[in-house]
Amino acid sequence: DTFEDAGLHPVMLKNVKLAGYHVPTPIQQYSIPAIKMGHDLIAIAQTGSGKTAAYLVPIINHLMGKAKKLAAPRPPPAAIASGEAGPVRAEPLVVIVCPARELAIQIFNEARKFCYRTMLRPSVVYGGGPLRDQIENLQKGCDILIASPGRLIDIMERPHVLSLRRVKYIVIDEADEMLHQDWEQEFNKILCGGEQEEGNVKYMLFSATFPTAVRQLAKTHLAESHVRI
Ligand code: AMP
Repeated sequence: DTFEDAGLHPVMLKNVKLAGYHVPTPIQQYSIPAIKMGHDLIAIAQTGSGKTAAYLVPIINHLMGKAKKLAAPRPPPAAIASGEAGPVRAEPLVVIVCPARELAIQIFNEARKFCYRTMLRPSVVYGGGPLRDQIENLQKGCDILIASPGRLIDIMERPHVLSLRRVKYIVIDEADEMLHQDWEQEFNKILCGGEQEEGNVKYMLFSATFPTAVRQLAKTHLAESHVRI
């Protein structure tokens, strides 16, 4: 099994090679075809297993040709830059929620590699970071948002900054870590409160362990088709 066999877009295949990846890890071998077929996914995977690329590669591969079609109509960049257009909401197609700032930055750096020459724009927001800069960055346009849950809710509740109505994929990374921290209510807000069009969103849940709280979250939000590793 190679990345060539995975049926990736040539631009994505090149990005994968540029990242120095030649052979998919076991989790990538499962997830790439599963996500390609449109399944929701639960994966029990540790850091180091290649889990980040396991969801980023197939999601970005699926969206890269569609970025223009799926994107919200936006004022011309010059009007945004001059402030003439007023505040413009970010309407990402992918939201990746993860527990910690370091992990968010790591995922963002990985996303940048795979977004190269795709027109998809990644952004990252996390607690403890400069809120104003993060918001300004989002309003410049964001297709793939990587976020810690508290900061994401904070930003979702501000007017004219972010809407999740166009979201196609929601990834919960290190779900067990976040449920330890009692983020359950925030999760429900993110997963249900984003005004997403019903039935249009694919959910991916990654967790190192599979305790009751994670099972419950999966049962409530994910579709029937599961892959477990
Ligand atoms: P992760 O589990 O996503 O934190 O990834 C662990 C490390 O493995 C990261 O440094 C990745 O860049 C690297 N990695 C992920 N997939 C591959 C692959 N297919 N081949 C080589 N390295 C990889």
